[in-house]
Amino acid sequence: MKQCKKVQIILTVVVICISLLAGCNASKQAIKNDAGKKQQQDSKYLVSDEPIELSIFLLDGIWHFDNEWPVFKKAEEMTNVTLSGTLSKSVSDGTQAFNLMMASGEIADIVQHYGKDDFFRYGAEGAFVALDDLIEQHAPNIKAFLEKRPDVKKFITAPDGKIYYIPYVTDGEVAEGWFIRKDWLDKLGLQEPKTVDEFYAVLKAFKEQDPNGNGQKDEIPYFNRQASPGNERSVSALYIFWDAYKDWCVKDGKVCYGPYEPEFRTAHENIAKWYQEGLIDNEIYTRGFKAREILLGNNTGGSTHDWFGSTAQYNDTLKDKIPGFEFVPFAPPGGKEATRRNPDSDGGWAISSSNKKVVETIKYFDFWFTEEGRRLMNFGIEGVHYDMVDGKTVFKENIIKGETPAVDQLRTAGAQIAIGFHQDFEYERQWLNPIALKGIDLYIENQYPVEQFPNLAFTQEEKKRLNEIMTPIQTYRDEMTQKWILGGEAVETSFDKYLQELRKMGIEEAIKITQTAYDRYMNN
Ligand code: CA
Repeated sequence: MKQCKKVQIILTVVVICISLLAGCNASKQAIKNDAGKKQQQDSKYLVSDEPIELSIFLLDGIWHFDNEWPVFKKAEEMTNVTLSGTLSKSVSDGTQAFNLMMASGEIADIVQHYGKDDFFRYGAEGAFVALDDLIEQHAPNIKAFLEKRPDVKKFITAPDGKIYYIPYVTDGEVAEGWFIRKDWLDKLGLQEPKTVDEFYAVLKAFKEQDPNGNGQKDEIPYFNRQASPGNERSVSALYIFWDAYKDWCVKDGKVCYGPYEPEFRTAHENIAKWYQEGLIDNEIYTRGFKAREILLGNNTGGSTHDWFGSTAQYNDTLKDKIPGFEFVPFAPPGGKEATRRNPDSDGGWAISSSNKKVVETIKYFDFWFTEEGRRLMNFGIEGVHYDMVDGKTVFKENIIKGETPAVDQLRTAGAQIAIGFHQDFEYERQWLNPIALKGIDLYIENQYPVEQFPNLAFTQEEKKRLNEIMTPIQTYRDEMTQKWILGGEAVETSFDKYLQELRKMGIEEAIKITQTAYDRYMNN
């Protein structure tokens, strides 16, 4: 505790010194400006008159920072800042490498990482510089972005009220939605279902009226491949039909735990009925990740909830195998979509306390939030990856239609790497299947996605206690929901006992902790 305070004092002194230095530099620059005018004209993004080099820790998935990445070379030309990666290509576990570096105390000037809790924790301990004043004074583009996006400011603010990292903010409002066999609907003379009751009726018709025409009742009306333990969405995709939630939710500003609410009971009464009537894949928990491929491929799957991009592709891959095959996105029955793409990627980059060029570094960070910097990170190099056509970035044919997926080609050049930047969904739109795009636009235009529960920041103590309570509760919830669906126990007779059990396990305390973090978040 004492040491923490000491670090904090030192940090404060450092920040004051930096602010003073920055003031000096500004006046120096004013004198220098006349002489350096030519250079200034060449690049309005210049961070320093002299070239500077900063070390960077970066491993984004399989991508190590590469000193030769063209995108960062281009940025170097404009800013005068060279980055130099600290990680060897043989390192494959980014989290482990991060932990090792933090424990060693030898921290790179710039640290890229997925895990905002780590930024918060090590920031509060003094290993990363608090950025609030630096942004205010030296990063006009980041500042403007945060003013325009208070939601982002909320999720990057640590429990101590400070900002320790610049986030990678993803773009695009929706990613997942509902799909149905349009050719089956046509064959049975049915319309796209708009309400939950209509959806039920359609699934029933799929089950009983042999839309695949093989004379057998082999159709599986609703299926879902996302049944992985811990991230089970195969059944919970249906919850929203009855206003139920699988995890944390908010009702009138109050935090609630979805499985502890009465709607959870209603949802499971209905889902159990659907399952018993054969409308839900009876192997939904065990069929696994290939369920979509298998059940579309053998012409038995009727409807699912999944990613737009990859699901729409089956229209191409199966068109020769299944004559008339049409698997199209449709509006969520009841008009509410439970998923929404979270702009909070949990990733970004920070400035370590041992960095000797803090002001230059935040200016460099700011470059990536300028229009040109953002375009560079999203689309790569003009003339190589894209052309400007009527003021719009248009990818070159070989990027979109090449053998390697567009995103991998971009990443090979250092674009679309999870540094602090704002992704632009346009980059993805240009290569998405038109059927997928139609679905995405339908969901955006009608604002189907419901408000998402935010990725809250907890203090270390809160986090520890919450884990103690919630880990067994989640296991118990999953056990009970499976029993209710598969018919091992009736919802009607066991729900009250289940609620009692949740109380015994400490759900009320967990709600209180989460409410505290939620209130703090809302005040950011
Ligand atoms: Ca059939």
